[in-house]
Amino acid sequence: MTGTESLSAEPGAFEAAVYSRSEDPHLGAVVVSAEALQGRISELGAAITRDYAGRVPLLVGVLKGACFFLADLARAIELPVEIDFMAVSSYGNSTRTSGVVRIVKDLDAELSGRHVLIVEDIVDSGLTLSYLKRNLAARHPASLDVVALLVKKGLQPVDLQLKYEGFEIPPDFVIGYGLDVAERYRNLPYLATYVED
Ligand code: 5GP
Repeated sequence: MTGTESLSAEPGAFEAAVYSRSEDPHLGAVVVSAEALQGRISELGAAITRDYAGRVPLLVGVLKGACFFLADLARAIELPVEIDFMAVSSYGNSTRTSGVVRIVKDLDAELSGRHVLIVEDIVDSGLTLSYLKRNLAARHPASLDVVALLVKKGLQPVDLQLKYEGFEIPPDFVIGYGLDVAERYRNLPYLATYVED
């Protein structure tokens, strides 16, 4: 299939051309299509452009999952922005965060007096984000808010006060658009469920 053909193909054909369901039994149903992701990110970018007019927000992405979202979101914001990244690892087992988080890579930027916007890929229990908010708030930013692309509804024990939310999704394990299983699937341009063996 040529590039031209894939652009004019029916919805779904684009996804199939990237990772084939027939060849990969772990690739489940599409949860959010590439088009829906990009459409919602444009809206989030417009809202952030409005709300931060006259300021230079510092977008803080949490590696590695948020890097695709941050890259698309930053380009949807029509203001000067700065970007920085943190990497965290969670103690405990791999499928559930314990809320005890270790910073593996800290920010380069000083936060004092900055308008900081945490860019998060997915909020599951919310424990990672709670920890990050507490940690970054202690560095005296002028403001600290969160934009989360995906929120698994009903799973968060505390209200995380997310200023911007992309999509509410069911509590299934999902892959794509930055989210992985053992480092695979991050480059899917859409979000799908992961089918276990
Ligand atoms: P929380 O602390 O909110 O329970 O978990 C947040 C982190 O767990 C996310 O940043 C992400 O790395 C990981 N995570 C949560 N749910 C999913 C999921 O459905 N798929 C993948 N691949 N990672 C997830």
